[in-house]
Amino acid sequence: MYPAHGGRSPNIANKQQGPDVAVIIPAAGSGTRMGPGDNKVKRLVRGHPMLEWSLRCFLGVPQVRRIIVVMRNQDGDWMRDLLREMVRGFGRLSTAHVKLVVGGAERQESVFRGLQTLDDAPPDWVLVHDGARPNPGRDLVGRVLEGLERNLAVVPALPVADTLRRMGTGETKVVDRSGLYATQTPQGFHWRILWEAHRTAHRDGVLGTDDAQLVEALGRPVHMVQGHPANLKVTTGVDLEMMERIMTPP
Ligand code: C5P
Repeated sequence: MYPAHGGRSPNIANKQQGPDVAVIIPAAGSGTRMGPGDNKVKRLVRGHPMLEWSLRCFLGVPQVRRIIVVMRNQDGDWMRDLLREMVRGFGRLSTAHVKLVVGGAERQESVFRGLQTLDDAPPDWVLVHDGARPNPGRDLVGRVLEGLERNLAVVPALPVADTLRRMGTGETKVVDRSGLYATQTPQGFHWRILWEAHRTAHRDGVLGTDDAQLVEALGRPVHMVQGHPANLKVTTGVDLEMMERIMTPP
């Protein structure tokens, strides 16, 4: 179901301490589709802000050595307090390894700014995870990391279950859904390929809705692993109500 593409095989998995993994969490959106209110990553699920749940998940993954949260300027104080509290609570990474950076007008620009902060001392692998997905789950993160042992780019995805229709002018037409998958985050990459993909997209003014498609634009294969239905992206108020019910604390 999730065919293995022949990516280059790195030596990283053989390193004694395992790969050095950095996580970028774009959380600089305004969440306007959620209706009036604040940035949606601050909304509470089971009494805790959505962003906190993702941080808890990644702080619990031993290979993760750095976390970069991309934020809006006006969320600075709130974000700093949250990160300080999380680092203190977990005690695994120091505040020097969990950082904030101000994002851009589009998600892609926000991720690019996160990558720029890592360029001085690049990690082996990067995971990019939407702050609006509070329930990634350690198993899913594990599948993405495992996929990176043999592939340059890995996305979690699920087969599309609904029958699809395309809206035309005056009529709608069914779209063949066979072979179609809906992608999720975290998406995982070897540093050099994601860095090259983002720099090329930035230079050429190409805008994508996720990071894997920028790698694909370089002509590189993207490997799929199984996503999870509970790894919902919270976009509307109904999504938030659903997440409240299905959340599985890490
Ligand atoms: O808007 P959407 O839900 O697709 O955004 C996905 C993620 O990207 C969210 O976590 C949002 O905060 C983030 N984002 C960002 N910078 C933007 C727009 C969105 O970091 N300019």
